[in-house]
Amino acid sequence: MDYHKLSEMLYPKVTETPESLEARFPRRNLPEGAKVTRFAPSPTGFVHMGALFPCTVSSILAKESGGVFYLRIEDTDDKRAVEGGVEEIIATLSDYGISFDEGPSQGGGYGPYSQRARVEFYHAYAKNLVSRGLAYPCFCSEEELTHMRSDQEAQKTNYGYYGGWAICRDLSFDSIAERLLSGASYVLRLRASHESGQDAGTKSKSEPDIGSNIMFDDPAKGRIEMPPNDIDHVLLKSDGVPTYHFAHAVDDHLMGTTHVVRGDEWIATYPLHHMLFDLLGFKRPKYIHLAPLMKTDGGGKRKLSKRKDPECALSWYAGQGYPVQTVQEYIMTLLNSNFEDWRRANPTAGLRDFPFSPKKMNAAGALFDLQKLDDVSKNVVSRMTAEEVYTELTAWAERFDPAFFTCLTRDPAYTVKTLSIGRGGNKPRKDFGRWGEAKEYLSFFFDELFTPAAPPDPAFCKAYAEGYDPGGSQEEWFASVKALGERHGYCPDVKQYKSDPADWKGSVADASASLRLAVTGRENSPDLYQVMQILGQERVIGRLKA
Ligand code: GLU
Repeated sequence: MDYHKLSEMLYPKVTETPESLEARFPRRNLPEGAKVTRFAPSPTGFVHMGALFPCTVSSILAKESGGVFYLRIEDTDDKRAVEGGVEEIIATLSDYGISFDEGPSQGGGYGPYSQRARVEFYHAYAKNLVSRGLAYPCFCSEEELTHMRSDQEAQKTNYGYYGGWAICRDLSFDSIAERLLSGASYVLRLRASHESGQDAGTKSKSEPDIGSNIMFDDPAKGRIEMPPNDIDHVLLKSDGVPTYHFAHAVDDHLMGTTHVVRGDEWIATYPLHHMLFDLLGFKRPKYIHLAPLMKTDGGGKRKLSKRKDPECALSWYAGQGYPVQTVQEYIMTLLNSNFEDWRRANPTAGLRDFPFSPKKMNAAGALFDLQKLDDVSKNVVSRMTAEEVYTELTAWAERFDPAFFTCLTRDPAYTVKTLSIGRGGNKPRKDFGRWGEAKEYLSFFFDELFTPAAPPDPAFCKAYAEGYDPGGSQEEWFASVKALGERHGYCPDVKQYKSDPADWKGSVADASASLRLAVTGRENSPDLYQVMQILGQERVIGRLKA
């Protein structure tokens, strides 16, 4: 067979060659050790929480090493494309602090950055493979392939187009020419081995020529060893658009990717990728495969699912009011086993300072736990200043709770004061982690949100209101509660009260509990003295008397 002639017949219009493309996209001029990584989503507009993992790792690897992180849109499956999807992905990721050095919106020297615009590149390499006898057109119909599959099932042999099953592998030039002339549609397949269909047929249809195992070291998974590929996989679909596998090899080579961080569902087809890089003469990137996020359900564990779990979509976190830092921080706790220890030792350090190591990644699926997310969030919010909380909380409320927004922004200085209680210091308060929870916590500071509760001792509250002096210090305030309490039958000393409870109505703690209930409507609240200071004399007296 004259393969060169075949390649000209299949791709008469393709003038680019591997050489011309190599010249157009020279190796990137980066310092030693700089990593080039990418995020390669389909343009669905939806960013899955699970996708933020490889994306975060890729971004860190590039930024940490002074490399390049780019966005490549994998739009070869047009059924998945959504109008405005690319813009939405870029906007969502930017909310989460992820930005790209190159991509469809800003361009760069290694584009185009979406696969449909790169079809001529794939065809140049396809033509080259055909001319070297390494790829061939396959005219099998869907029905023929389904038939083949049921035969394979009946014979209990491996599925796929290989060995003697690969009936188009040895078509003659004339037969191919004839089919093309009649307008038959075809896909382009890789010739995975040179074993011919007839030879294989005389041996056994199911025993292709397998070479020795291939292996690679994945920092997250350890050493992986697999048999080499023996399947004549599809490289170009019948519309000339590449499959993921072929596009992966061509794009990551031409775009200079050094590290591919992707889901571990791709490990199964790694042998094909290994073979493609070899046949195309490309240097293989390093692979880091990440396990999917898991979730407990019933007694067992399952993958986090887009269909069942709203927390799968990044947009859900914004709606619930999780600060961006929480999500970033939580991802780090799931990604690197030593992150939490590091965070405890460096409570105020920026996330960028964390020495990320792909080797410390969770090889099995990390468990996604909303309770844990809430805890992380409480820590994150507790480390913010009152002003930062004010800015983020009001931005959230403006979008998701306009009535609350009105309360919060009526007197910004007042709201900042309410948010200042218990901040700073070594043990900051952790009252809420989500902006959605803040309303309940802050409600008693705003008359329209306040729900009064009847205190056990209204007479004491009334008496206290009569003499309330907001001018004193915390100590003076407490002394006055004790003194007045004693006159109303509350023992000023809690210990003493415990030894003689019969002599008293209660202790000073019960006296304050009455005040607390009258002023805040709750049994638990932040420091009552500070709360009263912020509420102001008039409101405090009004509530105590009511
Ligand atoms: N488009 C592929 C996916 O979303 C990209 C995988 C890769 O990063 O290579 O799974």
